[in-house]
Amino acid sequence: MERFSGHRALVTGAGKGIGRAVAVRLSHAGARVVAVSRTPTDLESLQKECPGIQTLCVDLGDWEATEAALSTVEDIDLLVNNAAVAVLQPFLEVTKEAFDRSFNVNLRAVLHVSQIFAQKLIARGAPGVIVNVSSQSSQRAILDHTVYCATKSALDMLTKSMALELGPHKIRVNCVNPTVVMTDMGRLNWRDPQKAGSMLSRIPLGKFAELLSAILHASILTEVDDVVNGILFLLSDQSNMTTGAMLPIDGGFLSC
Ligand code: NDP
Repeated sequence: MERFSGHRALVTGAGKGIGRAVAVRLSHAGARVVAVSRTPTDLESLQKECPGIQTLCVDLGDWEATEAALSTVEDIDLLVNNAAVAVLQPFLEVTKEAFDRSFNVNLRAVLHVSQIFAQKLIARGAPGVIVNVSSQSSQRAILDHTVYCATKSALDMLTKSMALELGPHKIRVNCVNPTVVMTDMGRLNWRDPQKAGSMLSRIPLGKFAELLSAILHASILTEVDDVVNGILFLLSDQSNMTTGAMLPIDGGFLSC
């Protein structure tokens, strides 16, 4: 399937998890992909797995380093802002470091990378698409996720603001709001069966009976591909009339 041939995509946080899967799927679908992440060994293994992918190693929490790294990248028309951190702390124990790091990576970097991307598109008069990876936790409070929830909530509104101002330039901006996915981040937060159980019980499509085996076998609550499919849909022409939207990929968690 070559539905993204002729496109050049940049995916942040592409070293692991959802971002890596998006980068690989886009590359297989014909896009020329630039994979941005922080850990060099992840990018090396990604390039081995998918030799067509170009890699860029930068800490997106560093504004100046990000600007310098992205200045070398041209002709991107699809952007997936996926990189994020989840530092779990009870509200009363939230530290300044965790707050700053989380907002710098999860929100400020999205704004900054998108500015750089949009400025270049506008300068050459080309259309483009941005997909931000938010979370179901943008709209529901979750224990120990105060700062993470706040970054994702702000990301939803950033998505709408960007859609409003970039729409006239033919740049669409949407986000996906997934439920738990058993990536490294997901396992860190939800590998405790009791915690996972209380979450699953709030997901209409969740199967409580299958929880323990799903967790014990390091399986996944939502297929990583479910999220990737949603992102690819929003990047594609099939969603040409959609901008400023939040697409829940949550088994009904937010709707019920
Ligand atoms: P992972 O932790 O598995 O992967 C995150 C990737 O982002 C890693 O490659 C990581 O690199 C990279 N990254 C993190 N910080 C930076 C940074 N400062 N600069 C560059 N790269 C960075 O996360 P997931 O794949 O699970 O999550 C992807 C997205 O999906 C995130 O936005 C997350 O909030 C969202 N999400 C995840 C859910 C889940 O349950 N997993 C549920 C809902 C939303 P490194 O490891 O080197 O830091």
